[in-house]
Amino acid sequence: MLNVPPQAFPAPSSQQRVAAGGRAKVPLKPGRSLMDWIRLTKSGRDLTGLKGRLIEVTEDELAKHNKKEDCWICIRGFVYNVTPYMEYHPGGEDELMKAAGADGTDLFDQVHRWVNYESMLKECLVGRMAVKPIAAPKEISSTLSEEKKQLNGMLPEKKVLGASARDLTPSYDWFQTDSLITIVIYTKQKDMNAELVIVDCEDKRLRGEIVDDHSYLVEVDLDHAVQEDVAVNIAEKVGKVEIILKKKDNIHWKMLGQALESHNTFIKRTERGLFYRKCKLVSKTEVTHDTKLLCLMLPRSTHLCVPVGQHIYLKQTIAGTEVVKPYTPVLPFLPLDFKEPPRHDGAHLYLMIKMYSCGLFTQALDHLQIGDYISVSNPEGNFKKSQVQTSEDLFLLAAGTGFTPMVKLLNFALTEVGCLRTVRLIFFNKTEDDILWRNQLEQLALKDERFEVQFILSQPAKDWVGKQGKISSSLLSECVKRSRKDSKVLICICGPTPFTEQGVQYLKDLGYSQEEIHTFTA
Ligand code: FAD
Ligand code: NAP
Repeated sequence: MLNVPPQAFPAPSSQQRVAAGGRAKVPLKPGRSLMDWIRLTKSGRDLTGLKGRLIEVTEDELAKHNKKEDCWICIRGFVYNVTPYMEYHPGGEDELMKAAGADGTDLFDQVHRWVNYESMLKECLVGRMAVKPIAAPKEISSTLSEEKKQLNGMLPEKKVLGASARDLTPSYDWFQTDSLITIVIYTKQKDMNAELVIVDCEDKRLRGEIVDDHSYLVEVDLDHAVQEDVAVNIAEKVGKVEIILKKKDNIHWKMLGQALESHNTFIKRTERGLFYRKCKLVSKTEVTHDTKLLCLMLPRSTHLCVPVGQHIYLKQTIAGTEVVKPYTPVLPFLPLDFKEPPRHDGAHLYLMIKMYSCGLFTQALDHLQIGDYISVSNPEGNFKKSQVQTSEDLFLLAAGTGFTPMVKLLNFALTEVGCLRTVRLIFFNKTEDDILWRNQLEQLALKDERFEVQFILSQPAKDWVGKQGKISSSLLSECVKRSRKDSKVLICICGPTPFTEQGVQYLKDLGYSQEEIHTFTA
């Protein structure tokens, strides 16, 4: 199996090698795992060749270091000597070389802006660019520089933006009663919902984000202390979001607080850094011999719902280096009654995680004790509910833990998509013991006639009477069929990258279009 550790520098997607839109990965030589890299960075070896000195790098100087044996790359104005990292990069040396001697920020952001390169490459830091390379202009830029830093209850002055940008830019206001502070965000979006609002409030620091393709942020160091619980009210039709804080002391606030750096900015979502909050591990239950269901409790002052098809990142410090990996929240179980949408439990996140015996991150996760804390990011992902809302036939191709995005998707489809006729999960595993939630899936198939599940094993025991094999064209032509000649179909795929890539190729060969296929990737 090819399951690679995170990379400190991304491999950009290539149409031909990564049909799924994810990234290509190459097998690493023995002794070149992420843990080996971390060990090397801690060995005290001079990885930059500069004996610990930091220098100012000109563009000309950067351009000189453009060879495999001497490769510097600039990310967000910082220059790294990635020569020693070459063999450790899961995307391969060639991908890394695409940014050799140049500014690799865009390349990096395209694929894995979540990878914590600052931590992974800190020993490779050469210095700063003398003149910061010009970044691509932001569509709608920050308004902070135009704004008064002190928030005194007045709407902040806005930078003069173009008419269309001005129309789109959310704004905020605040007011108070004896006991409450209410911050109102006018999102100017008619289809607001709870999944688009993320609020955190810790130690007087309030962060309220409205996320869609763009991100609007209210980020303030509050003037006075507030209580732990935070309420969020959303007027969906008019796009008004209220964040309600309870004052700790019933005193009159003269102002909301001090604006933090990104306060009142409206930028592309992908340009906003990931925000993490610490969540408490409250339970750990066995799903199979190697897979566990972890329940994490969000802080009381956090409002966060992970949308269908999206993932979060977990961050842990392993051997002194921050390591980040993506995981897709599931439900605590598969609800069998689809009459009404499940009530949202905003307080907990459920993660179904396979613990690899040699896995760097999952071994550390498995050692977490109940009551321990772990950093959880905001959600990411490009799945849109609208993709499934008009479908008549939904096919879910999952391999191993590639089942995780299918859990919420199944629930959403069977509960809220009226036009669906068939939902079929084709679930690939090595052995029977590896099948996740087999009982629940079989129960669901009995209960809901629209739903069917097929288990396919690649390494079955002799007595397995079900299907066996690997993803293949013949297998897909058998299992993925429109219920009517022209029915609208959506096929979702998730599993190891080669599984997903092959699946996409077979489906295309069978005549399905790119629009009919969704791949889950990081
Ligand atoms: P690693 O240290 O990366 O190793 C895992 C296994 O692969 C080990 O056995 C290792 O020996 C082997 N391996 C590592 N590198 C290579 C290589 N180059 N060649 C061959 N073998 C190699 N996982 C879940 O369990 N649940 C989820 O919900 C989930 N959601 C995800 C969502 C997204 C968007 C993505 C991209 C991945 C998701 N994953 C999920 C996978 C998860 O992010 C980790 O990759 C996984 O937990 C393994 O991490 P690790 O550090 O423990 O393993
Ligand atoms: P696994 O147990 O190793 O494999 C599950 C099934 O997939 C097995 O039948 C296996 O067959 C088959 N398979 C594995 N590699 C294959 C390949 N190269 N080509 C064709 N079939 C292949 O799977 P796992 O350990 O649970 O891994 C799940 C993967 O899903 C991880 O890579 C994880 O990163 C990914 N994932 C991604 C997301 C996402 O992107 N959103 C979410 C969750 C998980 P064999 O017997 O031949 O190995």
